[in-house]
Amino acid sequence: MSEKPRSPIESGCPDGFQYMHPVMRKNYGAWKFHEHPKPGVLRHVGYSGDEIWTVRVGTQRILDIFSLRELCDIGDEYADGYIHFTIRSNVEYMVSDPAKVEPLIKAVTDAGYIVGGTKNSVTMLSHTQGWLHCDIPGTDASGVVKSMMDELIDEFRECNMPNRVHITTSCCQINCGGQGDIAINVQHTKPPKINHDLVSNVCERPSVVARCPVAAIRPAMVNGKPSLEVDEKKCICCGACFPPCPPMQINDAEHSKLAVWVGGNHSNARSKPTFQKLVAAGIPNNPPRWPEATAIVKNILQAYKNDAKDWERINDWIERIGWPRFFEVTNLPFTKYHIDNWRGARNSLNASTHIRF
Ligand code: SF4
Ligand code: SF4
Repeated sequence: MSEKPRSPIESGCPDGFQYMHPVMRKNYGAWKFHEHPKPGVLRHVGYSGDEIWTVRVGTQRILDIFSLRELCDIGDEYADGYIHFTIRSNVEYMVSDPAKVEPLIKAVTDAGYIVGGTKNSVTMLSHTQGWLHCDIPGTDASGVVKSMMDELIDEFRECNMPNRVHITTSCCQINCGGQGDIAINVQHTKPPKINHDLVSNVCERPSVVARCPVAAIRPAMVNGKPSLEVDEKKCICCGACFPPCPPMQINDAEHSKLAVWVGGNHSNARSKPTFQKLVAAGIPNNPPRWPEATAIVKNILQAYKNDAKDWERINDWIERIGWPRFFEVTNLPFTKYHIDNWRGARNSLNASTHIRF
């Protein structure tokens, strides 16, 4: 055994400055203005007089090593050797010479990528990690993203929306994702099915009991072995018990559905931030192209495009026209499932008048 313990390897984000285009580094925090010469292109001008052009490129979202190498090669040849990724897996190239913008756009479009995603366009859908490195997914969020972006490609390329539209997907009901102008989330519709033989070997029962937000799980002895039981009347089918205890199977092909929520907005630029609200539930989770969910999203986007005023985000638009009118113009059925009548909500949700967005 070595005498000195190995020192820890620091992980986490490296300092981003070392990877920045030199013009960005030099003008950091000292930009005078920026403008939008065309979809997918931004021009920033610094107080120093320096200018930099950004070309935003949409990708297939989950990137394989061949695509990454190809995108980096384009960056080396056409974009001063710098490249960066946005949180929605767009690639952004920066060039300090305007003459380089069009050759760069040609190179990326010739390679099969699309330029866009700026200003009042539909941004690249974001998705949570899903089956890549998470233990909770009830669906393949990245597959939903790819299918929908294929259908919305023109809305990414052009700036035809009243304002920017952020669309998100998430593959469980409890953790990351959500809070988009439009959010497509998995929806479990039945309580977990317990594999009692496995529970006693795999699960730490106290931590599973503690995970349930409505105290629906109890320890139980089944066939002489320690296991768990679920009070199905209380269970809200949230799926929180599934990650610490995979034998509590919550997702399946028949009962795992998708739901669409709208009007989420973090920004307080023109109006207050808002929570998203459920507008369509029980949508078939139908791979590989998810046509039913995609049709609903396209329908909502079309209604927003037709009816909203310039610069209204989806939440602003609904606020102005009202929810009854929203359901009329989108032709979505308003059902009993849209009414939150869960009696526990009064205690657990935002019931205070003091902290309210
Ligand atoms: S949304 Fe849920 S299942 Fe999907 S990556 Fe996030 S925590 Fe995991
Ligand atoms: S699905 Fe949610 S509510 Fe139902 S038992 Fe599991 S943790 Fe509790």
